[in-house]
Amino acid sequence: MTTTVAAYAAPAAKAPLERTTITRRAVREHDVLIDIKYAGICHSDIHQARDEWGGAVFPMVPGHEIAGVVTEVGPGVTRYAVGDRVGVGCFVDSCRECENCLAGDEQYCLNGMTGTYNATGRDGERTHGGYSTHVVVDENYVLRIPESLALDVAAPLLCAGITLYSPLRRWNAGPGKKVAVVGLGGLGHMGVKIAAALGAEVTVLSQSLRKQDDAKRFGADHYYATSDESTFQQLAGRFDLIVNTVSANLDLDAYLSLLRVDGTLVNVGAPEHPVSLSVFSLIGGRRTLAGSMIGGIRETQEMLDFCAEHELGAEIEVIPADRINEAYERVVASDVRYRFVIDTATI
Ligand SMILES: [Zn+2]
Ligand SMILES: [Zn+2]
Repeated sequence: MTTTVAAYAAPAAKAPLERTTITRRAVREHDVLIDIKYAGICHSDIHQARDEWGGAVFPMVPGHEIAGVVTEVGPGVTRYAVGDRVGVGCFVDSCRECENCLAGDEQYCLNGMTGTYNATGRDGERTHGGYSTHVVVDENYVLRIPESLALDVAAPLLCAGITLYSPLRRWNAGPGKKVAVVGLGGLGHMGVKIAAALGAEVTVLSQSLRKQDDAKRFGADHYYATSDESTFQQLAGRFDLIVNTVSANLDLDAYLSLLRVDGTLVNVGAPEHPVSLSVFSLIGGRRTLAGSMIGGIRETQEMLDFCAEHELGAEIEVIPADRINEAYERVVASDVRYRFVIDTATI
C-alpha cells in the first residue's frame, strides 16, 4: 500500500524540473510520515539533477534539507509523535552495524549510507527527496527541530548547517581560536554564524568585498578579499583552522601558508578536478589538510539544538515550486543570499 504524492522531479539529466507525482511507501513499524513544509535547495541537488557527478537515475526528486511535521507514526515508533516538528538531512538509512554506524558516523557507513534521493534503499526501492509534499522515513534517521527555530530557516541546517558544524566542532573552533571561512555562500554563511557562536575569532576570505556587511552581521570579525594579493602576505601564519566551502580549485599552497603551526585546512566543498599541492606547504608548519562530509544523526541533532539555543537560522529566500528552475540558474550564478527554500505548499 503506497500513497501518491505531488513532487517536482527532473525527468532526465539537464532537463528542467517539472511537477509530477511519486509514490511513498506505507508507514512501516519504525517509520514516520512527514508533511513537508519547506525544502532547501543545495548546490548538490543541481549537480545530481544535471548528472554532473555521474550515476544519476531519473526521474529524480531532489532535496535533502527537509523540514516538516509528523502526521503519522508506525506502531514501533518511540521517538516521535504526530504533530512533532522534524527534519531530514542527506541520508535516510545506513547499515547500523559497521564501526562507523555504531560510532554515530552514519554518513561514513562502510556499507554505504542511503541517500535521501537518487539512491536505492535497503528495501530495493528508489529514494526521492524533499521537493515533495510528504516523505516516509525511519525514525532513527529523523531529527527534531526545536520549537524556537522556524521551519523555513531550519531546513538548510540539515545539510549546510551540519556540513560546517561538524568540522568546526571536530577541530575545536572556540574561544582563543582563529578560524577562517573561505567562501560566503550557502555553506560559508552558516560557518560564520556557527563559528562566531562557538566563540572563535572569525575571518571571511571571499573573492571580493561585496558581502562584507553581511559577513559582519553574521558575526565575522574580519573580512579579506582573496583577489587582493596582499591578503596572503598580511595573513600568513594566522589561522588555527580554515574551512574551505568553495568547490572551485583553490591554490592550496597559498591557503596552507595562512595556517599556524599545527593548523588545519578542512575542505567541505568538492572540486570537480583533482587538486595538487607542494607537500612542503604541510611539512613547513606541521600542517594538516583534511576533509569532512555532513555529520552523523547524533551530531546533527546537537547542531540543531545549538542553533536553536543561539538563535541561528539560515538566511533564506523562500520561493514557490514553479520557480525551482530559475533558482537553479541563480545558484549556479552565485546569485542568492544565501539559500533558496521551497515552500512545498506550492507544489
Ligand atoms: Zn546538500
Ligand atoms: Zn554502517
